[in-house]
Amino acid sequence: MNFCSHCACPVVFERIEGDHLPRYICHTCQKIHYQNPRVIVGCLPVFNGKVLLCRRGIHPQLGFWNLVGGFMENNENIMEGAAREAAEEAHIDLELIHLLSVFTVSRINQVHIHFLAEMKTPNFELTPESTEIAFFDPKDIPWNEIAFQSNLFALRSWLENLANGQYKTHVGSYELPTF
Ligand SMILES: [Zn+2]
Repeated sequence: MNFCSHCACPVVFERIEGDHLPRYICHTCQKIHYQNPRVIVGCLPVFNGKVLLCRRGIHPQLGFWNLVGGFMENNENIMEGAAREAAEEAHIDLELIHLLSVFTVSRINQVHIHFLAEMKTPNFELTPESTEIAFFDPKDIPWNEIAFQSNLFALRSWLENLANGQYKTHVGSYELPTF
């Protein structure tokens, strides 16, 4: 950030007394521009014991298999966001069952939240974001072609819950190498 989004004057990056981190500060209008992680909401959609995966038609991770999900919008809750993304990316109608996983990717300042969801019907439609959509039995999950660590974490969490007959919420994180 170079300029204040409030008054368009240049900002400085500095730590103010009493705070533990530097912030972008506008000394003209005194506004402090806090920057915080963004929330990604999604679902692990299941029908008859199989998980629905979508092959990504967009970057990043083009061509890899994805769980439906995307950036949470303002003025919606996480359940609404997860269901909206499922409708947008695969035109599926589902019922959220429980909070499956919460996964932090701290180096890119993101929190990924996935719900286990039951599809009301097996129907889906391809979209520009999802160029191929398919159901996978747990033993057939294409582990080497899964996009994003948070999807791997959600899938592993689902399998662990299945094996243990539980609805546990799994919490994890991934720190990218700092070089
Ligand atoms: Zn300003």
